[in-house]
Formats: sequence, C-alpha cells, structure tokens
Amino acid sequence: MLTLVATPIGNLGDLSPRALEAMRSADAVLCEDTRVTGALLARQGVSVPLVPLHEHNEAAQVPRLLERLAAGEKLALASDAGTPLMSDPGYRLVRAAIAAGVPVTAVPGPNAAVMALTLSGLPPHPFLFVGFLPVRGGARAAELGRLRAAERAGLRTTLVFYEAPHRLDESLAAMAETLGADRPAAVARELTKRFEEVRRGSLAELAAWYARHPARGEVVVVVGPPEAEAPAGEADLDARLREALAAGMSVRDAAAAVAAATGVARKLAYARALALSRAGR
Ligand code: SAM
Repeated sequence: MLTLVATPIGNLGDLSPRALEAMRSADAVLCEDTRVTGALLARQGVSVPLVPLHEHNEAAQVPRLLERLAAGEKLALASDAGTPLMSDPGYRLVRAAIAAGVPVTAVPGPNAAVMALTLSGLPPHPFLFVGFLPVRGGARAAELGRLRAAERAGLRTTLVFYEAPHRLDESLAAMAETLGADRPAAVARELTKRFEEVRRGSLAELAAWYARHPARGEVVVVVGPPEAEAPAGEADLDARLREALAAGMSVRDAAAAVAAATGVARKLAYARALALSRAGR
C-alpha cells in the first residue's frame, strides 16, 4: 500500500491526526528532504525510517520502491509542504504503483493552490492549475502565449500559478501583457502563517504594486477567466483558428473550441480550420 500524505504549508497545527498516523504506521516515509519531514515527525515524537525521494532520484528509485510495495510493505509519501505531486515529486511513483496493481490511497490536507483559489474571490471552477511558469522570460512568455491562444479559442477558466517571490513582479507584468492588464487577479501570500495576506486587483495593478513592494515569503497567483468576447468577424475567426492550430490543437478541436467561443456555426469553423491547416502545410 502506498499512501500520499498531505502535510502543513506553514502552520504546523494543520498536520491532521490521520496524516500523522499514516506516517507513524508506515514501514518507511518517502520524502523530498529528510531533514524537513524528520523535524516534523520528531516534533510529534515519531521516529520512522525516511527515504529521500526527489526530482533527481525519483526515476531511479521507482523499481526499488515497487519491490518493497510488492513485498507487502506500507510506504507513505510526503513532500516538504502541502499535497505530494502538486508541483512536488511523486507522480512517477504513483503511475508505476498503479500500473503494478499496488493499492494507492491518500490522506488529503493542505494545498496552497486550492486555499488561494478559495480566498481569491474569483470563480472557483472551472480552474486550471498551471503550477510554476518557466523561469526564463522567453519560455515564460511562450507558455503564457499558449494559454492566451487557448482562451482565444474558448477556454474560460480561472488560472492558478505558483511563483517564487523574487520573480513575482516580472511574472505579473508578463501575465498583464499577455493575458490582459485588466484581468481580475489575486496574490495569496504566506498562507496559514502569521503574515498571511491576499491582495486583489487587476493584473496591471498587482504588477505595479509588487514592483514597488517586493514580495516576501511564498506566493500563489490566481487570475480570473477572460471576459466573454464579441462575436467574431471573418478575419477574427481566422486569427483565432490560426492561434488554436499553432497551439497544437487538431482541426476538429480548434473548430469546436472557436465555434463555442464565438457562436460561429461549427460547420463553418471546421471548413475554415481545414482550409487554414491545409494552407499552412
Ligand atoms: N505541494 C505544495 C502544495 O500542495 O501546495 C506546493 C509545493 S511547491 C514546491 C511550493 C510553492 O507552493 C511555493 O513556491 C508557493 O508558490 C506555493 N506555496 C506553498 N506554501 C505556500 C504558502 N504557505 N502560502 C502561499 N503559497 C505557498
């Protein structure tokens, strides 16, 4: 049995009795940083064998861990903070355990993305958890461009990003530029901790604020969905379809998404998408 255990994102009072019990009763706790999880458990008077499992060794560790699980051991997986796998290690192991028929369960608990979403005052669903954007400016702009293309093709969801505090202002500026300066947004900082704060405003306002007041601590950025856009004219229809196709959508998906976003008949959108796709080859 593999148990994914959520741990606090700042406030130690959020460690649940079930989370503690799952780790106490495990044959080993797999963790990102044995010092962090070791200290969390030591504070509760618990001593369990700890096995490091992080980005750099996960692929190599999986076969060994599967052998232990197959032999009937109980393993728990915890990350430094919050819910494992959510911008944290564990996905490869979970996928391999499922494929091997090992039972997988979880003790749910803190997660910064969901907490920020619920405090943002923005529509809670549908939402898209993006995680961290690329660090480099060009790659970040390209990723935001792909999101914007999907929005132009009809995607209407609240977006949730993790970000490092020293990159917050430049990321907000890039979001304002690509997603729209007026988009309603929120920055949730130091959640569950003493200086917890949620600042709400447009992307442009938040970018300007954090350019003047550098953020400290941990942050989540939540961006509300785009406004419904005016019905598309012919040129606009082609532009949207081109963007959707360039973002990797199939002709059929691009047509369906753009038709839904613009109210244009699906047949017409499909015919244009097909023509554009052929012309682009
Ligand atoms: N697995 C974690 C979870 O479930 O939230 C997230 C791990 S990810 C490596 C760390 C990022 O999560 C931080 O850079 C920040 O964006 C966000 N985060 C974690 N704790 C937070 C907190 N207390 N307040 C705001 N954001 C937090």
